[in-house]
Amino acid sequence: NELEELKKRLEAAQLSPEADKVAQRELQRLQRMNPAQAEYQVCRNYLENLAEIPWSKVSEDRLDKETLLRAKRQLDDDHYGLEKIKKRLLEYLAVLKLKEVGKKEIDEEIRRLTKGSEEKMEEGEKEGQKEEEKETLVKKGEKLEQKKPPPREPSEQELRLLEKKRMVDKSPILLLVGPPGTGKTSLAKSIATALGRKFHRISLGGVRDEAEIRGHRRTYVAAMPGLIVSGLKKVGVANPVFLLDEVDKLGMSNFHGDPSAAMLEVLDPEQNHSFTDHYVNIPIDLSKVLFIATANSLDTIPPPLLDRMETIQLSGYTTLEKRHIATRHLLPKQITSNGLHPENVELPEEVLDKIITAYTRESGVRNLEREIGSVVRSKAVEYATAKDTDSLPTYSPLVTLSDLDTILGIERFTEELTEQHARPGVVTGLVAYSTGGQGSILFIEIADMPGSGRVQLTGKLGDVLKESVEVALSWVKSHAFALGLTTTEDEDIMKNRSIHVHCPSGAIPKDGPSAGLAHTVALVSLFSGQPVPPTLAMTGEVSLRGRVLPVGGIKEKLIGALRAGVERVLLPEGNRKDVQELPEEVRRGIKIECVGGIWEGLGMVW
Ligand code: ATP
Ligand code: MG
Repeated sequence: NELEELKKRLEAAQLSPEADKVAQRELQRLQRMNPAQAEYQVCRNYLENLAEIPWSKVSEDRLDKETLLRAKRQLDDDHYGLEKIKKRLLEYLAVLKLKEVGKKEIDEEIRRLTKGSEEKMEEGEKEGQKEEEKETLVKKGEKLEQKKPPPREPSEQELRLLEKKRMVDKSPILLLVGPPGTGKTSLAKSIATALGRKFHRISLGGVRDEAEIRGHRRTYVAAMPGLIVSGLKKVGVANPVFLLDEVDKLGMSNFHGDPSAAMLEVLDPEQNHSFTDHYVNIPIDLSKVLFIATANSLDTIPPPLLDRMETIQLSGYTTLEKRHIATRHLLPKQITSNGLHPENVELPEEVLDKIITAYTRESGVRNLEREIGSVVRSKAVEYATAKDTDSLPTYSPLVTLSDLDTILGIERFTEELTEQHARPGVVTGLVAYSTGGQGSILFIEIADMPGSGRVQLTGKLGDVLKESVEVALSWVKSHAFALGLTTTEDEDIMKNRSIHVHCPSGAIPKDGPSAGLAHTVALVSLFSGQPVPPTLAMTGEVSLRGRVLPVGGIKEKLIGALRAGVERVLLPEGNRKDVQELPEEVRRGIKIECVGGIWEGLGMVW
């Protein structure tokens, strides 16, 4: 009957010793209960859940001689470029493989040790039994107890081995960080495929409630295990790859508990061999799970959580890289998924470039994939119609530039710099993440007017940006004479003048200190009346002492600059190391110069 079946399933599930104890107790309770009782269902549900958790069942890893080669092939097949990231992932897999071998060796050694000591103990027991046989029936109860081998104290050597195993067991948790659509999720999937492990995605975006991760206590009506245990139940093995998607969007601590604290327990290799779900309420070993997390930015990840992960940074793609990704991966994928054959669609390079620059604005390739999908679908309609009306010979697989207008509509984005001409007080700055998450240029406009030294700031500027404008202004004011902006040393350049600083587009919030250099140059340009060419862009934080300090997002910024038609860029000296890592295309297309201080920077502008 029902109970027998449940019992069998529990046996098959190979529960951990703790879980087994609980299961036995609950089973006994269930047997005494009336099935009509509400409690009966709760109890049965619980036991069914226990039976579904993979306590020790694992899928065999494909960690053989071929693993690394296969993984490399898999990563290369699925992703273009990303050389540094692939290399890091392969290192990770190589270490994983070595550890697996190491763990097996330790296991073997422990087995040898325990076997040795058990044999000794069994001998001892037998002697004891003989004596006991002579004893009277009254003492039978005690005798049964004595018969069970007493819990053996693990020897010192064994403890050392266990400790060593725990050390080996600790595998770092990878965190892939980068703009949307740059291949984080699909890299994680490729790893799972290469290892031959089950894959499960856990979306952490918007998880506000600790109970979503850890489950509700069983006393709640309709209580359920949390995301982690549900995931284990779903994959049915104890060693899957879990993709923790969007850890940066995990909710902060609130009255529903602290979701990030729960994640901490999941991710910390020191603790996760005994993770407790509130519903299950028995420690579950998560140490065999391979966790890979993804995030769009590091800023919102709680520091303790970040500390437990090893970050791998992905950055946006250049137009050239996007073109390669499109021809090698996205187009073939769309063609097959729309029921066509490769020879049915021909997308020339210039058409593809047009789609990339005029119809998408992003760091990654997700929208590009969507647009290519639209083009391919429209070709599919054409092809199907031609087939139905027997006019196949007139069908042309070629997509032309003029087709794009009809298929995708009018161009959505135009290059900004072409319509600009130089005027004093306007400087081209760089942002790493504009709308659409890609690097781009931004104009800094400063105008002056009669007034009483007021500084007005518009364009939805954040506090840090506002302060950086103040720093720039103070520096210019204090060096006004040296800059030749005033005729005497104690003259105030702001006397009877007010200035207005604006950054279009006005509706988009902007923040960060990285426009400091651009602000300083714009102020000097305004006060001196000398324009700055719009094709010269600059980025860098400035200090009051006139130093230009390094900033982040160089690759994104320069990719955006190249697309916008920038010809020369001033970067902080401290970012020189980033220049070497820039794509060839960018280094060839833009003249990059590094400056250590404001004076040096001004010297390069004029
Ligand atoms: P998000 O942060 O929004 O979750 P993501 O980084 O996880 O983004 P994916 O879903 O992995 O993005 O990638 C989007 C699409 O782009 C996928 O179809 C993926 O295969 C493709 N893609 C991304 N990068 C590459 C690449 N280098 N080569 C081939 N395809 C790629
Ligand atoms: Mg993703």
